Amino acid sequence: MPVMRAMVLERPGTALVMRERPVPLPGPGEILVEIAACGVCRTDLHVIDGELPDPRYPVVPGHEIVGNVAATGEGVGGFAPGTRVGVPWLGATCGVCPYCRAGRENLCDNPLFTGYTRDGGYATHAVADARFCFHLPEQADAAALAPLMCAGLIGWRSYRIAGEGTALGIYGFGAAAHILAQVAAWQGRRVYAFTRAGDTAAQDFARSLGAVWAGGSDEAPPEALDAAIIFAPVGALVPVALRAVKKGGRVVCGGIHMSDIPSFPYRTLWEERQVMSVANLTRADGREFLAIAPKVGLKTEVVRYPLGQANAALNDLRNGRLRGAAVLIP
Ligand SMILES: [Zn+2]
Ligand SMILES: [Zn+2]
Repeated sequence: MPVMRAMVLERPGTALVMRERPVPLPGPGEILVEIAACGVCRTDLHVIDGELPDPRYPVVPGHEIVGNVAATGEGVGGFAPGTRVGVPWLGATCGVCPYCRAGRENLCDNPLFTGYTRDGGYATHAVADARFCFHLPEQADAAALAPLMCAGLIGWRSYRIAGEGTALGIYGFGAAAHILAQVAAWQGRRVYAFTRAGDTAAQDFARSLGAVWAGGSDEAPPEALDAAIIFAPVGALVPVALRAVKKGGRVVCGGIHMSDIPSFPYRTLWEERQVMSVANLTRADGREFLAIAPKVGLKTEVVRYPLGQANAALNDLRNGRLRGAAVLIP
């Protein structure tokens, strides 16, 4: 029986452990993916730390999967063996709840999420629902594509929800921000990048990707912002960002989990400023973003780790030691 390897989270708050198990067979509507690369996302840290509701253990984290179809289950069309595919965070939806029916499948009442409520991509193989997978360019480097599958897709949704304003603040310059800064610069917007105070390396990195200004999150931008996106999981940034946006401006929280938001005077919200969160993605977001990515000429900056070094990659992400995105290579 063929064997696969996976880095498994057995209990929250513990290190991942390498396990061997039989390669699963794809069920009806599913594909078996032989993984070429899987990105490491901050959400994986929240899964590992037990910060998300209704967890399932043991679980294989990872929802930025790039690989090739190794086998298909009954009733799967359009995914010939060998086809290059991407598997994102949204693993499946129910299709019948009010949100699914309204075209808001990102808010589905009964979803499955890759690397959270179903096994993900910190592995040599994964099974995925074919309806939620994306075709990806065959020639591109798999590691370079991996961050697009979440940092890119959910970043794109956050960016769209931030609106059309030309002065855009981004708090937390990690994987998602380094992709969005390129999109925004390509569209002629002015990006203001906020990092941890004193992180001059991240600020230099942001400027190299098209940010017109970069500074610490304790600094005020040189002009009032039309909108701001917060990717850092730091609730204290919500009132900070609200103070940086102009009247009618919007603050979008792009992460799945944040520390508590401190109380702030109503004056900070007044004048039709808005705070919103972004949850998950729809398949339409994915198609839209993957169509725009080649036009932008997106270049992702990745740091490769062998699969067995997943814990080291997660530690580097947790400690802010990464420039761009960590990617696991099985
Ligand atoms: Zn649903
Ligand atoms: Zn993610």
